[in-house]
Amino acid sequence: LARRLHGLGTTIFAEMTALAVETGSVNLGQGFPDTDGPVEVLEAAVEAIRSGVNQYPPGPGTAELRHAVAEHQLRCYGLSWDPDTEVLVTTGATEAIAAAMLALVEPGDEVVALEPFYDSYGASVAMAGGVLVPVTLRPPSYALDVDALRAAVTPRTRLILLNSPHNPTGAVLSPEEVAAVAAVAVEHDLLVVSDEVYEHMVYDGRAHVPPATLEGMRERTVSVSSAGKTFSVTGWKVGWVTGPAELVTAVRTAKQFLTYTSGAPFQPAVAAGLRLGQPPLDALRDSLQGKRDLLCAGLRDLGLEVFTPAGTYFVTTDIRPLGFDDGVEFCRALPRRYGVVAIPSAVFYADSERGRHLVRWAFCKRDDTLALALEKLAPLR
Ligand code: PMP
Ligand code: GLN
Repeated sequence: LARRLHGLGTTIFAEMTALAVETGSVNLGQGFPDTDGPVEVLEAAVEAIRSGVNQYPPGPGTAELRHAVAEHQLRCYGLSWDPDTEVLVTTGATEAIAAAMLALVEPGDEVVALEPFYDSYGASVAMAGGVLVPVTLRPPSYALDVDALRAAVTPRTRLILLNSPHNPTGAVLSPEEVAAVAAVAVEHDLLVVSDEVYEHMVYDGRAHVPPATLEGMRERTVSVSSAGKTFSVTGWKVGWVTGPAELVTAVRTAKQFLTYTSGAPFQPAVAAGLRLGQPPLDALRDSLQGKRDLLCAGLRDLGLEVFTPAGTYFVTTDIRPLGFDDGVEFCRALPRRYGVVAIPSAVFYADSERGRHLVRWAFCKRDDTLALALEKLAPLR
């Protein structure tokens, strides 16, 4: 194993989903919905396969999907991108992030990221030869510590890898926090890679603010999103990047030699989904908000300390009120003892000690799945 991959091991999602299958547990670990997305989207993929859309699509993605992504960004955020040069379709957000790191980070460059972070960030930065510098978000609010962000920036800093709505904490950066990040980026002339895969999963009437909408940010921001979350089709792995042509061209250069292209019949289906406009997105958000409330109330009843999330699929809890001390041990024991899988948040920290007492639960599941999980967990109380 090459030295730059040392310590990456097996992703927690593979380990925990395998354990869920092996033990027949309710899987509140890996963030995937257990219901499919809009029927129009599913039907469009079936129709595309039947009508022969099964060979390599164009490397940057089909023109139809690139136009649909551009229209979606314009409709939702007032951002105007040229579909030919400023939009790139990727194999999920995961590839978009990896390609962005490979394209934009020189060996030894520092990448500032909010910690805890989605586990592919550390791996992508490492594969690019970069150094991830964490800025820790702390419970209960998981608010951004702007002084810590400023202190993390050094002359070696190349970019800020941002994620809001934020996995795993569920935090959503406020307009003021996004403005603070933008101020730091502009002041130090940094690029921003903004992972917005949960852009439509923001609750309680709050709004998602894309950093690219702020002054001085359009020209330095690569925004990333994914159909997996937006249309509840995580296995399709259709993502996209938007940004100024120069940055998108750089990401495309790396992307060409990772996968070249993928998802031929899924690209027209995702384009059809984006053209459905706001109604299915609002319906999904409202449904997920209800699921959040159900799981948070249930976990609180068990005695866990619950940090209610403003967005995403996930809620974080502190396990200490139940007398446990180590989230990794807790999550390894949970499937066999109670028949439920959750994710130890420690895996999302550069220094796992900082997440030692924390456990992440996914609520993007059917209400009866959530109720069953809570029933199985009842003896914890
Ligand atoms: N970023 C974040 C914050 C995520 O939670 C995920 C997980 N789905 C991804 C990126 C990857 O998205 P995709 O499945 O489209 O590769
Ligand atoms: N993003 C999802 C999560 O955080 C799934 C990630 C994955 O399977 N790689 O659970």
